[in-house]
Amino acid sequence: MAHTPESDPHGFRRRGVLFVLSSPSGAGKSTIARKLLASDPQLEMSVSATTRPMRPGEVDGRDYHFVDLERFRSMVADHAFLEWAHVFDHRYGTPRSQVDAILDSGRDVLFDIDWQGAQQLFQIAGGDVVRVFILPPSMEELHRRLTARATDAEAVIDARMARAAGEVSHWDGYDYVLVNDDVEACYQSVRTILAAERLKRSRQTGLIGFIRSMLKN
Ligand code: 5GP
Repeated sequence: MAHTPESDPHGFRRRGVLFVLSSPSGAGKSTIARKLLASDPQLEMSVSATTRPMRPGEVDGRDYHFVDLERFRSMVADHAFLEWAHVFDHRYGTPRSQVDAILDSGRDVLFDIDWQGAQQLFQIAGGDVVRVFILPPSMEELHRRLTARATDAEAVIDARMARAAGEVSHWDGYDYVLVNDDVEACYQSVRTILAAERLKRSRQTGLIGFIRSMLKN
């Protein structure tokens, strides 16, 4: 995957970060993603395509590209997805063209995808991928949060609790694992991870020119 965004915090060219946030549904990932995007113009969200029905309050094209099964299948056949997976009873995929466009524009990409997506992205893009897993403080607290949100039927919540236990079991496929017992503290930790990852020597492709000219003078 070729991408050399225009600048890093020092103004050197660097490779874009594919920043993955995963967590069981209800662990606070969406709040943290929203805060990150609002505070960081260098970061843009990858909007997935999904076959699941739209929930109240969701907007097509902002939260997801809501597509039917036929359309999803044709996108798979056209290799339009960087990765895709079955999650719960539906399909979710990351459109390749959007990710390329964000990286080409010199920004980093934020992904809200599950462990299967994180694994697939890592296989494709290796060291450009940073995988962060957010844990709820406890399964009891997760249940409380899912119930309080009340956008889903009880059977759906039960299914999500079962699924959450499965998600958590994949914690060891991530580079960073955080416990979200305080959303502001967790958000600050995620920002710190992103800031440090941007400064990695391997990402700062423009650094070598700077060092060479520095040593010449
Ligand atoms: P929800 O239906 O609650 O929005 O999302 C359910 C799960 O699907 C979440 O864990 C979310 O991270 C995951 N997901 C959303 N989009 C994608 C995607 O494009 N690829 C993969 N692998 N998972 C996704």
